[in-house]
Amino acid sequence: MKINRLIANNINHLDSSLPDDQSLGIAGLSGSGKTTFCQTIGEESKKRLVSLLPKSEYQYLFPNIMETNFSAIKMEEMPLVLFLGKSSISANPRSTIGTHTGVFKEIRVCLAEKFNLSPEVFSFNNALGWCPACKGRGTTKNVECPKCEGKRYNPEVEQYTIELLDRPHTISDINNLSIETILSLAETLHISEAKQHILQNIINMNIGYLGLNRIMGTVSGEN
Ligand SMILES: [Zn+2]
Repeated sequence: MKINRLIANNINHLDSSLPDDQSLGIAGLSGSGKTTFCQTIGEESKKRLVSLLPKSEYQYLFPNIMETNFSAIKMEEMPLVLFLGKSSISANPRSTIGTHTGVFKEIRVCLAEKFNLSPEVFSFNNALGWCPACKGRGTTKNVECPKCEGKRYNPEVEQYTIELLDRPHTISDINNLSIETILSLAETLHISEAKQHILQNIINMNIGYLGLNRIMGTVSGEN
């Protein structure tokens, strides 16, 4: 596939030639246009595809087709390209697999209903639930918080337990369970089908052994 004089966002008159029978990685500085480059190829492919369809059909299939903002582009020998999108993984230490996927929120709601409390009580990102010494981070100055021993919660919240796998579990115990274990407990923890699907996808990527509490910024292979 040949791309000539691509102008889009930060990309200025880029010429490129890509083989279409290999897996390619695109590397570059943050903001250099990696996503724009891929997205533009996807958008161009979509435009060519819809030009073959009646208007009523492509409007239904691609309601956002008019959002493209690239220009002066000439692409040759182009196969059908699908751009699947991207979402950034937060580097915030408060973002874990559990919070990022929304699974932990459902677990908090389940516990809150059981004890007739507000779900915020079971959040380590809320003053109602967090350990006041580390404010729910579980660490202070990069060492395990001595007060909560890395559990992130205050002692009052740790008093509430539910029976799982034949022993009582606090919210921090649940947070330490693996994705695989959490999925096996989906019914008891009232995890919705949509979230079970996300957990199953994580397991299909062979990382189901990771804990729900795993910080998102450390999931990448380079860490
Ligand atoms: Zn603490």
